[in-house]
Amino acid sequence: MSAETTPNSTNMATEPAFQPYLVHVARKQRLSPHFMRIVFTGDELDHFGNDGYDQRIKVMLPMTLTHGESQALWADPLLFDHESIARGGWWEQWRALPPENRNVFRTYTVRAIDQAAREVTVDFVLHHDAGPAGSFAATCQPGDIATLIGPNARSEDSAIGIDFHPNDADSALLIGDETAVPAISSILEGVVRDGWLGRIEVFAEVPSEDDALDLIRPEQTAIHWISRGSAPRGQHVLAALLDRYRSFNPIPGRGHPNEALPLPSYCWIAGESSLVRDTRRLLVNEFGIAKERISFMGYWREGKSEL
Ligand SMILES: Cc1cc2nc3c(=O)[nH]c(=O)nc-3n(C[C@H](O)[C@H](O)[C@H](O)COP(=O)(O)OP(=O)(O)OC[C@H]3O[C@@H](n4cnc5c(N)ncnc54)[C@H](O)[C@@H]3O)c2cc1C
Repeated sequence: MSAETTPNSTNMATEPAFQPYLVHVARKQRLSPHFMRIVFTGDELDHFGNDGYDQRIKVMLPMTLTHGESQALWADPLLFDHESIARGGWWEQWRALPPENRNVFRTYTVRAIDQAAREVTVDFVLHHDAGPAGSFAATCQPGDIATLIGPNARSEDSAIGIDFHPNDADSALLIGDETAVPAISSILEGVVRDGWLGRIEVFAEVPSEDDALDLIRPEQTAIHWISRGSAPRGQHVLAALLDRYRSFNPIPGRGHPNEALPLPSYCWIAGESSLVRDTRRLLVNEFGIAKERISFMGYWREGKSEL
């Protein structure tokens, strides 16, 4: 192994942006009927990237959860090999395994990182028809192991998994379902941390009114919690957006600008794919917001497992 590729090297250019971290559950906390907070701890989390915002990670589950106790926990023998980590090739290694030997992973958001305490917090949605990740969140116990594929603070590219990019915007609109609530929470905290002074409107659709969480927020922030109840996904969000911005419609003959509530100069949308698609269409086609001013991410798809 060369000096440039040793894991303790300080040469940021050669550090992998993402790497696997072996962790175990330190504690869990039920935040609301549909949110379970899990705090993971692991020896190497002192250099887990802390750029914040909507930083995405992979939560990889041990094979015992899907194949039974007799199976190897981590089918990839090189997963925690230092040379292999330094090469940044975990994804290619995973893909090279026979499908039945691949550890299951799902995409999540870093809700909080405490490098000094070596802890990473992830807020899991507890959903019906839960797949491996949802089931893990519901049933795991302190001491249970997992792997986080997450950012490496020693890399100059550690912020690679962040999609919130307001650039020169002076106001932002954040829209999402419950899977986007952890990202929205972290974005608001990032904005407070970095002193971004723009006006922010949040529309968060959650399964029930008891899922409205108490969020840290910048001063000029309005948070609209929307309880879905038995309505189709996204229906209430679209109605609330129309209601809020109803009189601001730049399409000639279809509305009158609302001076009191100008449209946002940056929009961020995440959640179930059809909610994201329909919301983006509304913003572009009805509100006239430029496509390049909108970041949008389908976080999951109704009726489909992630992989
Ligand atoms: C960038 C990114 C960040 C994300 N951050 C988070 C996060 O912080 N917290 C979080 O909880 N989720 C987050 N998600 C969404 C999460 O990855 C999916 O919900 C994932 O499918 C859950 O895995 P699973 O194993 O429980 O279900 P899967 O095996 O993937 O799916 C099983 C079934 O459950 C359905 N399903 C999946 N998710 C939901 C849901 N939320 N509600 C209802 N039905 C569902 C699927 O359509 C499928 O029918 C994020 C996704 C992305 C891409």
